[in-house]
Amino acid sequence: MAEAGRFRSGARYCHAQVAAAIRDGKLKHPARDGLTCADCGGPARDYDHRDYNAPLTVDAVCRPCNLRRGSAVPRTIGERAATTVSTTSSDLSPTAAAPRRAVNAAGGQSALARVVGGKVKQAHVWNWLNAPGAKVPAEFCITIEAATRVSRHDLRPDVFGPAPAVASKASA
Ligand SMILES: [Zn+2]
Repeated sequence: MAEAGRFRSGARYCHAQVAAAIRDGKLKHPARDGLTCADCGGPARDYDHRDYNAPLTVDAVCRPCNLRRGSAVPRTIGERAATTVSTTSSDLSPTAAAPRRAVNAAGGQSALARVVGGKVKQAHVWNWLNAPGAKVPAEFCITIEAATRVSRHDLRPDVFGPAPAVASKASA
């Protein structure tokens, strides 16, 4: 198990990132703020990482569900975050899935923030993914679509409507 050391250091790094985010008020505290478990809806105790390449992409979970989920994708130190993150969690809402795909296609939250530019920083992108009720602002959707091929119709169906059936192929 030559990977063990790297694996553990990735976990430690990510847990420190989460602790700092909670301290800074960027993340809620699962227990203190009464979050519910992403898997079972019970009272959450912890944050679970599915991918240590995304230290602040976490799900609030209860202890038993956290144990059941097992290990996250190990962190690839010094390399770009893996772009093929398997979304094993079944709790992704349709609106959360599209921004997550855009982040993966861009190569991470910071990369997607750079795609949008202006005042948008990684923390904003994090919010789009994680803040309750948050959405990708409609004015950024076309830029994101052009850069990541994630459709504006998937990013904000409430603004752009459902995807036209064959429009993307027919319009070429
Ligand atoms: Zn649970």
